[in-house]
Formats: sequence, structure tokens, C-alpha cells
Amino acid sequence: MPGVPPVNRSPLVVVGSANADLVVRVGRRPLPGETVRGGDLAVHPGGKGANQAVAAARLGGRVTLLARVGDDSHGALLTRALREAGVDFPAFPYGNRPTGTALIVVGPDGDNSIVVSPGANALLSPADIAEQRERLAAARVLSLQLEIPLDTVTAAVGAAGPITRVVLNPSPPTDLPAEVLARCDPLVLNQHEARHLLGVDTAPEEAAVALLARGPRSVVITLGAEGALVAEGDGTTTRVPGEEVAVVDTTGAGDAFTAALAWRLSEGDGLTPAVRYAVHVGAEAVSGAGAQSLSPRGRTPGPAVT
Ligand code: ADP
Repeated sequence: MPGVPPVNRSPLVVVGSANADLVVRVGRRPLPGETVRGGDLAVHPGGKGANQAVAAARLGGRVTLLARVGDDSHGALLTRALREAGVDFPAFPYGNRPTGTALIVVGPDGDNSIVVSPGANALLSPADIAEQRERLAAARVLSLQLEIPLDTVTAAVGAAGPITRVVLNPSPPTDLPAEVLARCDPLVLNQHEARHLLGVDTAPEEAAVALLARGPRSVVITLGAEGALVAEGDGTTTRVPGEEVAVVDTTGAGDAFTAALAWRLSEGDGLTPAVRYAVHVGAEAVSGAGAQSLSPRGRTPGPAVT
């Protein structure tokens, strides 16, 4: 149709969250009812969907992010950051909710306490997905996490084309409908998420086999410094060893890993080679060499608490 710009068909489409991360460092956590003084507030673009989209774009991928922000300064910050990173970020109309926010208090040992307020992420709807069907049907990989409504995740998986490979990171861990699990190739999760979904603490090999029994075509469990475990649909498991690096900050390692995995799969790699590459990118992320996340927290600490 004349005058209508062609739809950008990225091989990798991420459907997920976009948040502003509001970070304050404290010398001591407040007790209930108590007030403590913190360092200066730092505001960073973040959210699992946005982080993964940016990480994949920085690695060289052509990426579309379907996410909702609000009509406020945090929404503008995210939109700018995503576009600067080269992510195709089609605009949805603003709704009546603020941009999603993560309130992050960083304690003296670098440990985070986080309150997430979904805001506009809760407005990303199956109708939004229906509007973007063309993009989803043409994608080689659709990457999802669970910081958006579950019926939207289900709609996105339903809109994936026959050639589309679905990569799903169940974070925060939630039970998934059978039709979603059946398309996951892989379900990619860390050990904490695996424990939460299975309700038991088992060796990674056993956890992977138990998760496969729930229906995904393959499972990848990330193992921190130990690398990752790949479990194929036929039950064969392969360990990909971790890389020894000096750890600066482990925040966002899982997002960097999943972004790298999704991107390599969208380039046609097989699962185990894609996981090998993702383990390398995860190691770069924790060593501070990769700057894979939208949010630089930890790598560029805010001012000291006075
Ligand atoms: P999450 O960040 O979701 O908790 P993991 O801790 O399993 O996930 O880390 C994801 C990936 O990041 C790992 O598979 C690995 O590639 C890399 N990674 C994490 N921690 C380390 C570490 N200490 N040393 C080397 N690589 C690491």
C-alpha cells in the first residue's frame, strides 16, 4: 500500500518487559518503619525484555522488541536507549499506566533487594500481539520471559510461525500452559528457576529430564560459573563448561546468556553450539567485559553512600 512503511521483519523478535531501574546504594538496609540515608539515585533503562533485546542487538542481531512503556520520562528514556542500541521498537499507543519500574536497593555487599512495579508492562495484551502477527509469523526466533501477562505470552507463542523457534525464560518462575511449553525449544532457565518450577532440588541432569517431561522440545539450565546444561528432546544431556573469569558483577548474566542463545539460534546455529557461544557471552557479562545489559549497575557503581 503506498504511504505505508513496510513492516520490519527481524529474524529475532523479543516480546517482554521494559522497566526503569531506580537504584540507590545503602550502607544498611532499613528495618520495617525505619528510614535510612542512601546514595544518589541512578535511573537506568532495564527490564528483561529490553535487556535481552539490547544485548542481542549489541552482539550484531537484527532485533524487534514488542513491549509497552508509559507516557512519561521513563518511557522516553527506554525508547531512546532501545533505538540508540539499534533495536526496532514499534510504538504502541500509551495507556493509562506509568512505565514499569524496578526499585532496587543495593546493600553494602552488593546484594540487591528489588520491588518490581509492572505498570505499562501489564497492558501488553493479546490484542497488541494480534496487531503484530506479521512480525511474529516471520521471525526465526521468538524470545519470551514472564514479566508480562501470561495470556500475552500465550498469544505470542500462538502467533509464532511454523518456522519460528520459541526461546522462553520462565522468569519470574510461573507454571506455563501446555501449549506454550510444547513450543519451547529451548526452555532456558537458571537453577533457582528450575528448583522453583519442579518444587525439588535435584542435580541439573535430573532437573532437565524432569522439565523435558513437561513438554518443551529442549531445556537449557544455566549453572553460573559451571556453564550450562543442554537437554535435547530425546533425553540426551550435554554439559558446556563455564569459562574462568574474574567476576565483577553477576547481575544480568542470565539475560546476556539468553540473548546470545536466541541470537545464535536465529542465525541458524544448532542448540549446543549456540549454548557454547552463550556461555562465553555470560562469562564476558560477569567479568564486566561485555556491557551486555542496558543497565550498567554494578559495573559503574553510583556515588558512595555518605
Ligand atoms: P542467572 O544470571 O540467571 O542467575 P547464571 O548465574 O546461571 O544465571 O549465569 C548465566 C550464565 O552466565 C552462565 O551460564 C555462565 O555462562 C555465565 N556466568 C555466570 N556466573 C559466572 C561465573 N562466576 N563465572 C563465569 N561465568 C559465569
